Amino acid sequence: MQKKLFKRLFLVLLLVLGFCIQFDVIAEAKRDVVIVIDPGHGGTNMGARHNGVIEKEATMKVAIAMKEELEKYKGVVVYLTRNGDDSMELLERAEFARDVKADIVLSLHFNMSEAHDLHGSEMWISSTGGLKQEAEKFATIEQMLLKEYGIEKRGCFTRLNDLGTDYYGIIRESANFQIPAVIVEHCYLDRPEEYAFYDTDAALDRLGRIDATAVAMAYRLSSEELGVDYSRHYVSNTKLPDNLLKEDITAPETVNLQIVDFDENNNQMKLHLSVSEAESTMTYYQYSFNGGKTFSDKIPFYTEKEIDFSTSAYPTANSGFMVRAYNAYGLYTDSEIYDLNLVLFDIKEPAIRGDFMVPGFITDVLDEIEAFAEELPPEVKTAATAVLIIGSVFGLITMITLFIQNRSKHKISEDFQSKAKGA
Ligand SMILES: [Zn+2]
Repeated sequence: MQKKLFKRLFLVLLLVLGFCIQFDVIAEAKRDVVIVIDPGHGGTNMGARHNGVIEKEATMKVAIAMKEELEKYKGVVVYLTRNGDDSMELLERAEFARDVKADIVLSLHFNMSEAHDLHGSEMWISSTGGLKQEAEKFATIEQMLLKEYGIEKRGCFTRLNDLGTDYYGIIRESANFQIPAVIVEHCYLDRPEEYAFYDTDAALDRLGRIDATAVAMAYRLSSEELGVDYSRHYVSNTKLPDNLLKEDITAPETVNLQIVDFDENNNQMKLHLSVSEAESTMTYYQYSFNGGKTFSDKIPFYTEKEIDFSTSAYPTANSGFMVRAYNAYGLYTDSEIYDLNLVLFDIKEPAIRGDFMVPGFITDVLDEIEAFAEELPPEVKTAATAVLIIGSVFGLITMITLFIQNRSKHKISEDFQSKAKGA
């Protein structure tokens, strides 16, 4: 009899508990996500200017489109920090976010670089614990969508000041109120390959809609109007860092360059570049044919740490081929230097071929002959000179024949490459 009573009590307890959990879930699900969109700059603060576009105006157009698109979803409330062309302190923007109980602040921007040599999207996020995790969730999806749209991924970064707090004001001030923040640098205004992503109102509108979709995915929203349901969207949660995530202050650990193949018919050299970089991602590489005196343009890494590429190679007497690889913080490491004369032509006696490559070789030989002939008596001078020249020509033909024979046998062996490395 008592046993039965206990059983009943237990069942009632279970029901109550189940109901509580259920209620909690419902209560949780009912709370709207609060998104604060911050159109970067404003008023007297113009932001970057290039190609006829002013950043403060472009960010506003993107923000309006983003809000409009995001409001088509259920369970979300959207605010803009500024609605007109107002000057606004970063602290004011963060205070606004605090007052409306924002879940996240998304500060919209466009980038520029001093040397006008960078491109791609860049995300700057909160650096500490749960704020970083939350900010990174959005930033990762945002970059994925921008990349699908055609804007290269430069990476997602944190940056600290000397006090060890977030370097960028909007992130730091928001962090003081325990609100995660992301600075979205959509693309670079000063790179022609990215003009099309921002130079019309339609393009800015498109960016705003991409930003909104990233929010919808990160916060698992759905929209009947748009016919999309991200409620089951997979959002990978990055591991919560144990302590402050610091910016990377060291260059990539190693940069390995491998010359895989060389096609003599079109002078194309195939290469494989692999990099080890523990603290951040890679952004660019560039190569040099003269041991680092001058470099090619910066080329983006399309994968995280490894890349195959090819380039034309015309070895000269002094071909020092090398690659310089940059991490997300602009720090670089150089590969070893390859002597392309050795690697690509596999000549058994590089010294001889080296001489042969020196411009003016023929005039040097003629000078030698002339100097030698000067010392001969005048009556044999002409005849001796003629014999020497004919002899030299025969010698030259023999050398060229040997050279061509060697070349046709050539094949790049890994073994030989390692010997030629750093030569
Ligand atoms: Zn800006």
